[in-house]
Amino acid sequence: MIYSWQTDDWQRLQQLRAHWPHALLLHGEAGIGKLQFAQHLAQGLLCETPAANGEPCGACAACLWFSQGNHPDYRAVLPEALAGLAAAGADADSSSEKADGDEGKKTRAPSKEIKIEQVRGLLDFCGVGSHRGGMRVVLLYPAEALNVAAANALLKTLEEPPAGVVFLLVSARVDRLLPTIISRCRQWPMSVPQPKDASAWLASQGVDDPAGLLAQAGGAPLAALALANDENRALRDFTLAQLAAGPNCDAFACGENLQKLPVPLVLGWLQRWLYDVLAQRTAGRPRYFPGAAKALTRCAQSADPAALARYMKAVTRQRAVENHPLNARLVFEELFIGYRGIYCAA
Ligand SMILES: [Zn+2]
Repeated sequence: MIYSWQTDDWQRLQQLRAHWPHALLLHGEAGIGKLQFAQHLAQGLLCETPAANGEPCGACAACLWFSQGNHPDYRAVLPEALAGLAAAGADADSSSEKADGDEGKKTRAPSKEIKIEQVRGLLDFCGVGSHRGGMRVVLLYPAEALNVAAANALLKTLEEPPAGVVFLLVSARVDRLLPTIISRCRQWPMSVPQPKDASAWLASQGVDDPAGLLAQAGGAPLAALALANDENRALRDFTLAQLAAGPNCDAFACGENLQKLPVPLVLGWLQRWLYDVLAQRTAGRPRYFPGAAKALTRCAQSADPAALARYMKAVTRQRAVENHPLNARLVFEELFIGYRGIYCAA
């Protein structure tokens, strides 16, 4: 299934069908549904009786396998940490999972990178012919997760594309891709949906403040939905209200109310807020909290620039030790006392 705001992209892409590029790079902001779009595209390419507009039929053997995650001509390559997102293709990359699957290592955090073993695993896939006599499709998500070694290995494959294999690369950060990879792909920018379309969709999902959350999410509807469903939403709103109070921020209430939250989560809110105070000051336009533009303007006007810079550095340092078992309440008190300190004495 694709989202309502993607039908135009879908229609235009079908014009490539006669000369389908061996590598397509779908890129655009995070949270606009690029992965779902790419998965649907893959199913459409593999479907054995697609509709005239490239829509997969949903009923043929290929579609059935695809939805069960075991189409033999499909591979989804994601970082270990995102394996769950492969949904339909969860089983696809079992070869590389095995290498990481030693029972004794289960305690380490799952990798956020696409590793070279995963790309090497693709070589075998590309080396054997199609099982169903049609295309073979490789999905890489997110392409910016390819580490250097993996990117270089992929580059070799893209330079000598195996016949009948289509690569779908999906990225929210093309600036982090090797230029040589980008140049081997047909680029396909996917735009952020119109606010009214995105708001309507959010409302249909039962979101109560579509416009506000959409702004916080930079116009990306899926990111806005994630914010709406965030179990910590009330505490996030509380924190933003405290930050908006500038010099009147109640550091002890912050410590009291936020103490059960993971330190990295609160640090993330704080960092985005500080970013926006700075952005308001330098560019006159916040990035994350346009809905709080008035408060940000107030904060930007009364903050001492040197103190703000020092404090931002201190918060960055705190991020480096954020996973250490510190007393969260004390950490938060100290952080928010420090925050008050960036405002000139009133
Ligand atoms: Zn089908």
